[in-house]
Amino acid sequence: PSKNSLPAPGITMIGAGYVGLVTGTCLAKLGFDVLCLDTNANRVAALKAGRSPIYEPGLEALMERQVAEGRLRFDTFEPKGVAHADFVFLAVGTPSLPGSDQADLSQIFEATRMVAPQLRAGACLVVKSTVPAGTNSTIRAIVAERRPGLAFSVVSNPEFLREGRAVADFLRPDRIVVGCHDDAGRAGMERIYRSFVDQDVPVLFTSPENAELIKYAANAFLAMKVAFANEVSDLCEAAGGDVRDVVRGIGLDARIGPRFLEPGPGFGGSCFPKDTRAFVDIGRRLGRPQRLVEAVVAINEDRKESLSSRVADALGSCAGKTIAVLGVAFKPDTDDLREAPALRLIPALVEAGAEVRFYDPQVAAAGVAELEGALQASTLAAALEGADAAVLLTEWAEFRMLDLVSARRSMRGATFVDFRNLYARDTMGKAGFLYHPIGSAPLRD
Ligand code: NAD
Repeated sequence: PSKNSLPAPGITMIGAGYVGLVTGTCLAKLGFDVLCLDTNANRVAALKAGRSPIYEPGLEALMERQVAEGRLRFDTFEPKGVAHADFVFLAVGTPSLPGSDQADLSQIFEATRMVAPQLRAGACLVVKSTVPAGTNSTIRAIVAERRPGLAFSVVSNPEFLREGRAVADFLRPDRIVVGCHDDAGRAGMERIYRSFVDQDVPVLFTSPENAELIKYAANAFLAMKVAFANEVSDLCEAAGGDVRDVVRGIGLDARIGPRFLEPGPGFGGSCFPKDTRAFVDIGRRLGRPQRLVEAVVAINEDRKESLSSRVADALGSCAGKTIAVLGVAFKPDTDDLREAPALRLIPALVEAGAEVRFYDPQVAAAGVAELEGALQASTLAAALEGADAAVLLTEWAEFRMLDLVSARRSMRGATFVDFRNLYARDTMGKAGFLYHPIGSAPLRD
């Protein structure tokens, strides 16, 4: 082989984003030979230089080891990279179409068209991206049309990892879902996931349509728990309750469970918002409106929209005030800003006449249009110094450990709006804050 030709991989991963990079790196750790291809040249350049283009705890070190041991490589997309693969994973984005609830499947169909000409006989195309029921058959048809007579499988294998815990989630999943119609596809996936079966991870083999529906329904259900907690939180405020005790009391019922019942500023991220919208869109298209999830989408929109007026209520008015926003990532341990509540709150505060500084331990916000009217502080202390109010949006560990007394002293004002209920009311009171948690009465003068 010539110097530039790619050695034969067992697995080719199309898309090296949050899902593709984590999946590719973890499969290399399991011993597979993995080649990750991405069309984004900057992303590939970073990866080739040994840097992860995304922040995910533990990922970079794991990546480095797999690269050093020769099981993990990166490249920009080229058809040759698919030619020897037994498995081609598709992990490209499926965002909402602009101005619509519908999932934009152009990346997945384009990736299918790109890999089809080089797919080897017997190869298994594994769809990791979140896609509406029926997409698996369209993918199969796109390949069949371009490669008549080729024997190949298409398998739906939705991903359930959480950003911020993606490596751990991949290696110790609650379950693995595989949707396929043919024996070859099933046997292929049994090969990939053999070590998980040995560890008693449940593997559900089902139809592609079921696998596709499971992913959306799971995200819709989790989003519904969050929206429910937010609605109950509002009710607690009006009824003189404290949502912390109320959700604890609900969650202790084993049929309900405590997780995902935490009120907050509304869910963001790259999955729940677009996946709940897509679920609603699928329901409408098929004549089975998903009314609960329609309400979830609306509740969440209202919540994000209401954040700035909550801050204004706490402060009297935002005009002329200096406001420190703590955290902009949609949740801790990620640098993902997609649909983060901060992207709604910060422009609204600026619009209301506040001077906004924000601090986040991982997000590099340069070039993010929504944050352009605000200043990014390089430390937590710099964000708080002289501020009239602090507003906490993301529960980063660094904020849990904040020295509240010195924080209060360094600020000009005493207002602290805590959209994550991170602190204890008494401690905040003792530190001299006018503390505004959510779902219970504020501490005022
Ligand atoms: P992402 O945007 O981080 O990554 C997608 C990558 O695919 C990008 O790097 C892009 O350049 C690349 N790409 C697009 N078209 C390509 C092509 N034709 N060839 C090669 N590369 C191409 O997206 P993500 O967050 O990793 O999500 C991917 C899919 O996984 C989505 O369907 C998402 O819904 C699903 N998912 C995401 C998560 C999550 O937490 N992020 C969790 C579960 C499922």
